[in-house]
Amino acid sequence: MDTSYRDYYVSELGPEMDGKEVRIAGWVHEVRNIGKIVFLILRDHSGLAQVIAKEGTASEKLMKEMNLPKESVIAVRGKVKKNSESKYNGIEIEPSELMVLNPLSSQIPFEVTGKVPADIEVRLDNRHIDLRRLETTSVFNIQSTILNSFRSTAIKAGFNEIRTPSIVEAATEGGADLFGINYFEKTAFLAQSPQLYKQLAVVGGMDRVFMVVPVFRAEKHNTVYHLNEITQMDMEMGFADHNDAIAMLKKVVKNILADVSKRNADDLRRLGIELKKGKIIEITYKKAVSKLNSNGIKIEFGQDFNREHEEMLCGLLGEMVVVKEYPSSIRAFYSMPNQKDKEICNSFDMLYKGLEISSGAQRIHLPDVLIQSITARGLDPSNFDFYINAFRQGAPPHAGWSLGLERLTMKITGMSNIRECSMFPRDRVRLKP
Ligand code: ATP
Ligand code: MG
Repeated sequence: MDTSYRDYYVSELGPEMDGKEVRIAGWVHEVRNIGKIVFLILRDHSGLAQVIAKEGTASEKLMKEMNLPKESVIAVRGKVKKNSESKYNGIEIEPSELMVLNPLSSQIPFEVTGKVPADIEVRLDNRHIDLRRLETTSVFNIQSTILNSFRSTAIKAGFNEIRTPSIVEAATEGGADLFGINYFEKTAFLAQSPQLYKQLAVVGGMDRVFMVVPVFRAEKHNTVYHLNEITQMDMEMGFADHNDAIAMLKKVVKNILADVSKRNADDLRRLGIELKKGKIIEITYKKAVSKLNSNGIKIEFGQDFNREHEEMLCGLLGEMVVVKEYPSSIRAFYSMPNQKDKEICNSFDMLYKGLEISSGAQRIHLPDVLIQSITARGLDPSNFDFYINAFRQGAPPHAGWSLGLERLTMKITGMSNIRECSMFPRDRVRLKP
């Protein structure tokens, strides 16, 4: 990847380049001075390379004189030398020139090499340094593939990407969990879901839309799988029910796993993850309840699953499970009642390795049914006028879902804390950096 400072990333160097002069640039990962030879490990975002300066060379003098502290930014010009014993791509670099692009003028708060493990809070306080850890880099390399894969599957399936506002006048799902903001003379809110807008796009005739959207949840949890600002990957499709939406969700998730396996093989290896091919089990809520009951768990129809139940279902059924047709009473008011059984609705969740990663439903497109559902929850339909009225003016049946980017990244990368999977996470206490 050539720029004015470099010709290659270190991962692009190999024994077949023996004798070639190259320029590489990055950070000083480690320096070892063993008398006659100075070993310098240079790190760029792709990996590590070993630069070896032999006794009596100008580079040796330079490296010794400079006494380069770890994390100094350097550029090296040198010859690639094949060395089958080198664990750095089977090569080393014999430098002819070494430039310091930025010397350190402040101490690094923790070891980027990982030799001394650092607390996650310290790493997050100094995320610009934490990102230099190759494991952290790998998490975000994988996240980039997830986003790209989602977009590419969506586009191939005829969906158009849309943008919806983050500043909204009122809640779409009841008012509890929103952050209020000053909006000139009024109070406005940060959207906790693009739900209403993507539905309006479909009602507007766009038929198939998708988006990658930040959403904000003023929930006071303190868990390893909740954040207060997250990124959702959303889809909404017209003339469709929940089974159509589930089919799209499965396709998206399967392609994401396949693309990550293909494009991020080095990242997965670095993180010690072997991704299984996404076999996805589908089960109704009712059957899932009996499954839990027959495995000694006391849960009745009408109770929502907790994390323990979700973990157990994945343990019993498989890594990826879609649970569908939940009781209406435990789902959002806009979930379409099932034709055959009015107690359940056409909603679903996808669980991956014991954690909910996605929720979706066929939406109610019939105003009278919507009013009934709102009233049944003790809410006042007049507060939902705008929403209900949109369905009076030619709304087709439609369905869609949201897939949490950070949760999916967490489960794919094997991280135990969702904060690892948001570059600059926002939780109850963290607002910085
Ligand atoms: P949970 O019950 O697990 O808190 P939810 O059902 O309230 O999640 P949804 O409204 O269904 O969440 O949001 C869609 C998806 O967005 C979820 O399946 C999840 O992947 C992700 N998500 C929602 N809330 C959070 C959060 N606070 N932190 C991280 N991811 C979230
Ligand atoms: Mg949900």
